[in-house]
Amino acid sequence: MCRHLAWLGRPRSIASLVLERPHGLLQQSYAPRRQRRGTVNADGWGVGFFAPGSAVPRRWRSAGPLWSDASFASVAPVLDSGCAIAAVRSATVGMPVEASAAAPFLADGWLVSHNGVVDRTLLDVPAATAESACDSALLAALLARRGPQRLGEVVAEVGGRDPAARLNVLATDGRRVLATTWGDTLSLLRLEDGLVLASEPWDDDPRWEDVPDRHLVEATPDGLAVTQLAAAP
Ligand code: GLN
Repeated sequence: MCRHLAWLGRPRSIASLVLERPHGLLQQSYAPRRQRRGTVNADGWGVGFFAPGSAVPRRWRSAGPLWSDASFASVAPVLDSGCAIAAVRSATVGMPVEASAAAPFLADGWLVSHNGVVDRTLLDVPAATAESACDSALLAALLARRGPQRLGEVVAEVGGRDPAARLNVLATDGRRVLATTWGDTLSLLRLEDGLVLASEPWDDDPRWEDVPDRHLVEATPDGLAVTQLAAAP
């Protein structure tokens, strides 16, 4: 299982979101606290973000471990964003290890991260439209085709088709963040200047809340909605 995180709020540095928390993504890349499958997330990492005032998604991805990237660590403190998604990857057996298989993926102007696993043969999408042959990239391609704003519906449908699938997904278009829980953990932290959604808490702040399994979170600057999801028949 990978670990991922989203931020929606006032601009913060990418370093503060990804590298500077006591149990943030950097630590989760080698010592996750709540991960049920896999022990390290060293098969790549990625950050996608919208710079303040820009609707263009920017990405920085790598096939190596996050802790080994000194260039990123040097630049991340001066990259600011009010809407970002980041992930560290533990590749599912059989999936390629390459930068293009690291989340976040691009899907019709949205950034998409998938934490989990899905049977690729059950995803009804041409492989050529995906950034990589890995399951997460194909899921992102399916979302691009169906409309990423329909994330909850697509997860319920894919989950119905593949009962073994785990489908924790984060998606953003720069204005709102959508998240699903489907087989793995997700925590939520409401702060004065924004909202964090993360596979696991980045610190021991007692305000972290656990999102129940099989739910959709829709976060906008105006508020938050959490609704239940059920596998489509
Ligand atoms: N199945 C995806 C991959 O191989 C995600 C893996 C995960 O969540 N650990 O990259």
